[in-house]
Amino acid sequence: MPAAPHRSGAASTDARRPAVNPWAVELRELGRRAGSMQEIDRTVPAPPDWRLELIGVPEGAPVHLRLRLESVMEGVLVSGDVEVPVEGQCARCLDPVRDTLELDVQELYAYPGSTTEATSEEDEVRLVEGERIDLEPMVRDTVVLALPLSPTCTEDCAGLCSGCGQRLDDLPADHSHELLDPRWAGLAGFATTGAVADRPDDPEEN
Ligand SMILES: [Zn+2]
Ligand SMILES: [Zn+2]
Repeated sequence: MPAAPHRSGAASTDARRPAVNPWAVELRELGRRAGSMQEIDRTVPAPPDWRLELIGVPEGAPVHLRLRLESVMEGVLVSGDVEVPVEGQCARCLDPVRDTLELDVQELYAYPGSTTEATSEEDEVRLVEGERIDLEPMVRDTVVLALPLSPTCTEDCAGLCSGCGQRLDDLPADHSHELLDPRWAGLAGFATTGAVADRPDDPEEN
C-alpha cells in the first residue's frame, strides 16, 4: 500500500507523530476474528536514537520488516524478523565496523482491557492503540538489546600497539619497541652489551 502523499516537513522532530508514521500498522484489514492473519513486508527509515556508545543504526537507514500479524484472543501477536544495518567503531582498534543484524521478533500487543493488560505491569505490555499498533518501540528494544557493548572489527582483533598506536593486525608479527619505558632505557643499554647480566650488585657502591 503506498504511503499517503501528505508531507509534514521534519516529521521526526514532532513530539506527536504525524498520521504518516511508517511504523504504524492499521488493523482494519486484520480484524478481530481470532486466527486471522496479515503479512507485512516493508522497509522503513530508522529513527535517530537506535544506538549505544560505539555502535548503532544510522538515522534513516533502511529497516526491513518481515512480519506476520495474527489476531488472537488477547490482542495481536506480531512475529517475524527484522533486518537492520549497523555502523560503529571497533572497541579495540577504533576501525569502522559495519554489519547487518537479522533479528527474530515476537510480541503480543494486547487489547486495552484484556486479561493480559490487566495482569501486566504498565510498562511491560504493549497495547493496541485504537485500531493500530506502533511497531517502532518494539523493534527499537529488540535492536538496541542486540547491539554489542564492545563491537569488534574482527572476532580476534588484537587492538592497538601500546608503543605506537598502530593496529597490531596491520603490523608484522615481530613488531616491538626496544624502549617501552624511558625509566629502563639505561638498563636496556647495559643489557645489550651484557655488562649487567651476570654481575651481582657490588656492595661497595651502596
Ligand atoms: Zn579492531
Ligand atoms: Zn608499535
